[in-house]
Amino acid sequence: MRPIHLLPLGALPPGLTEHLVATLAPRFRVPVVVDPPTEARPDWRDDARAQYRADAILAALVADPPADGGRRIALLPADLFAPGLAFTLGLATLAGCCAVVALARLDPAFHGEPPDAGRFFRRAAIETLHELGHTLGLAHCADPACVMHYSRSIADTDRKTLDFCAACAR
Ligand SMILES: [Zn+2]
Ligand SMILES: [Zn+2]
Repeated sequence: MRPIHLLPLGALPPGLTEHLVATLAPRFRVPVVVDPPTEARPDWRDDARAQYRADAILAALVADPPADGGRRIALLPADLFAPGLAFTLGLATLAGCCAVVALARLDPAFHGEPPDAGRFFRRAAIETLHELGHTLGLAHCADPACVMHYSRSIADTDRKTLDFCAACAR
């Protein structure tokens, strides 16, 4: 497997990318590179919904894939939606180069809970692993503990582990 790129789309909470690198690198045994941050483009945002368009961001990522043939996961410090969905925690090209993860709903503060960087970062690692799994060709998994289980809500994310179940790992 080629390198994994993490692309911050704006300012991220201090320590988050370091946490993701430390989580991903040993699992995939490839270099995990943090790309220079870039700002999310205004035309990616739906102002009426106060959310970004997952398909627009993914299209931009796919148009400019990593030159080293690796994968790139964009990290958006905002909320995201996809057509037909009130929100989505992420979107990826199946067996492709790229994905985007939305961080807003992963923050306990979004749900009116006290700040908790540990929970926030764990959720971000789970959803980043999940989108990476899609880029590797994995579909959603029925096992609620598997990182490839679909998150309908943040409670689903909290039931997931940082691991692929035996079937998905294969
Ligand atoms: Zn998914
Ligand atoms: Zn699974």
